[in-house]
Amino acid sequence: MAYKISDACIACGACAAECPVEAISEGEGKYEIDADKCIDCGTCAETCPVGAPEQA
Ligand code: SF4
Ligand code: SF4
Repeated sequence: MAYKISDACIACGACAAECPVEAISEGEGKYEIDADKCIDCGTCAETCPVGAPEQA
């Protein structure tokens, strides 16, 4: 299991700064989570102002 960032992402970068394993990087118009690195901690979902990270 890993989190996924939906199209609601406004590319603010807040989640990337908070991810403990640096699984989040800037992608095409939104941020993306590397499912192989994500440890499912939920910090990105708590940090995001628009609720874009969702448990996949
Ligand atoms: Fe990083 Fe945790 Fe979000 Fe996974 S759930 S991308 S480990 S902050
Ligand atoms: Fe996108 Fe939310 Fe991450 Fe900001 S905190 S880059 S809106 S997923």
